[in-house]
Amino acid sequence: MRDDYYSENWSQATEKFYKSAMAHGDLRWCVAAGHSFDIPYVKIGDGDNHIVINSGIHGLEGYFGSAAQLMFLNEFVRNLPPRALEKYTISLIHIINGWGMENRMREVRDASGGLVDLNRNFGIDFTRPDALPRNSKYELSHDLLVSRPDAVAKKNAIKEFRRLHLRDGVWDAISHGQYAHPDGLFYGGAAPTVESRMALGIYDEIMANGARSLTSIGLHTGLGRFDRRRGRVSAQLLVSHPSSHPNTKYFENMFPGTCVASDENAVSGPTLLGDLVDCLEARYAPRGIPVYTADYEIGTGEFPIMSPIYKRMDMGDARYDLRHYGRISHQTHRNLTESWYPSSPVWRASALGRAYVLFTEMIDNMRRQK
Ligand SMILES: [Zn+2]
Repeated sequence: MRDDYYSENWSQATEKFYKSAMAHGDLRWCVAAGHSFDIPYVKIGDGDNHIVINSGIHGLEGYFGSAAQLMFLNEFVRNLPPRALEKYTISLIHIINGWGMENRMREVRDASGGLVDLNRNFGIDFTRPDALPRNSKYELSHDLLVSRPDAVAKKNAIKEFRRLHLRDGVWDAISHGQYAHPDGLFYGGAAPTVESRMALGIYDEIMANGARSLTSIGLHTGLGRFDRRRGRVSAQLLVSHPSSHPNTKYFENMFPGTCVASDENAVSGPTLLGDLVDCLEARYAPRGIPVYTADYEIGTGEFPIMSPIYKRMDMGDARYDLRHYGRISHQTHRNLTESWYPSSPVWRASALGRAYVLFTEMIDNMRRQK
């Protein structure tokens, strides 16, 4: 495994990607008028069963997804079984959120300058603002999270809030998405962003001619553990369905050595609002073809209880800084980056090692299918 798969900025990552993509597949670009960050993607194979791996929905998560895609192009493509490529097309979509990547922000900047979590912006009907999804549990945490930064008092208050609301769903609901507070956390926006329209345009192009199935995996970081001492990171495929759902079973079968995490609360519908994976399943459902989606999460949390507390606090501090000073303080920015994209070489190597296992399992599965 090479150590130069990781990049320092969007331009470098994009250049590495398209050069490798041109050498190993059918490179394409998605561009939008007035938008600085074109999205390259590459198709490998000619099959009607589509496997799509996207990266960079959350800019704060840095260049792990980009590095994993580069590794796939350089180390896996030439070993793909030719017969499998008659049945499958593998597409890699590189860095959907270029602005966030360049600015080390989770969000995208929308037309009004607001910050929108792209993965809460998909498939929402914004035409009737009064009918937008509500997240009343988030409301309970909002004022505390976006209050004045204080490394001791605020941290302890959030810790206590978590203790009180761990079992009633309120703590979890913070990240589920909300449309009422543009200055709040996990804000899903007031309209579809250019990035979400571009991403769906790419999926539509991939799915255009006689697609028979879609398996889509988004590459993310920030959820799960990082054991720095042992040099281990967790890796899990999040499926937004209960364990009994066929989609969950599909991923368990495809990736027997990877932890597949189901969502037992998603019985009547998705838990996360505006998530790309659920949007894709709904978008192609009318075609009556199988659509399987998951997010692949590499762990970054070094402290089992405190990491999620720090993450929420740092996100809230960033909102406070932006509102009052127009920019995020260096300390908050550094905290945010380390929480989602650790600079540790141990983490970076371990994360790529996990992706190596994921890709190996994926190809083994393609080989098994006749
Ligand atoms: Zn993410």
